[in-house]
Amino acid sequence: MRRSRVVAAVLASLAIGFGTVGSAQAGVGLPPVVAQVPTQEKVVFITIDDGWYHDPAVAQTLIDKRVPASLFLLPGATSYDTGYFTRLTGEGRATVENHTVNHPDLTTLDAVGKDAEVCGAGERLQETFGRTPKLLRPPYGAVNDEVRLAAKACGIKALVTWTHDFTTWGDAPPPTPQLEAGDVVLLHFTPTLGADLERALGAAKAAGLRPAALMPHLRAAGLV
Ligand SMILES: [Zn+2]
Repeated sequence: MRRSRVVAAVLASLAIGFGTVGSAQAGVGLPPVVAQVPTQEKVVFITIDDGWYHDPAVAQTLIDKRVPASLFLLPGATSYDTGYFTRLTGEGRATVENHTVNHPDLTTLDAVGKDAEVCGAGERLQETFGRTPKLLRPPYGAVNDEVRLAAKACGIKALVTWTHDFTTWGDAPPPTPQLEAGDVVLLHFTPTLGADLERALGAAKAAGLRPAALMPHLRAAGLV
């Protein structure tokens, strides 16, 4: 079954390679790449990536404030402390989504490699959390039509990148942007997540926006 899926992905990849040359139909039938969700509602989307650092205070904030966060987790980052994340999905409003197995730039891999990274992560997250992820965050936001095709073969409905990265990567947090309706906020499970999440929730509140779940709004926008 796994083998036939890989073969199908390879064949489809070849087809796309030929099919997109000079074609205005490029990307038709592939899952969309979404950096911001078109919406009239006063909502933002909180997304948190990777999963290496597990701050109990952050988990408590997400649960207490009922933040419907999308967690794009690496299976390896959840496996040594699965309970941290099952609590977020069980007691909180978090959903676990796909971020590949090894965090590669998917555009550099062949079809078999893409399949192993995306379907492989989906299968492992399904085993752990009981649900096959429907959203993929491609590492580094690196996407092309072949990545979208591979994602589709793994049951992915949309590839979600981001509008604003609130992660503190250096000594100081990045400047806080003015959030707008439909923005996708990127955070990471790092030691600064507590402060980064607080800034993101503060920026949302200042803009009159509430954190919302991605999938219903992707559906409402006709994207999935
Ligand atoms: Zn990542």
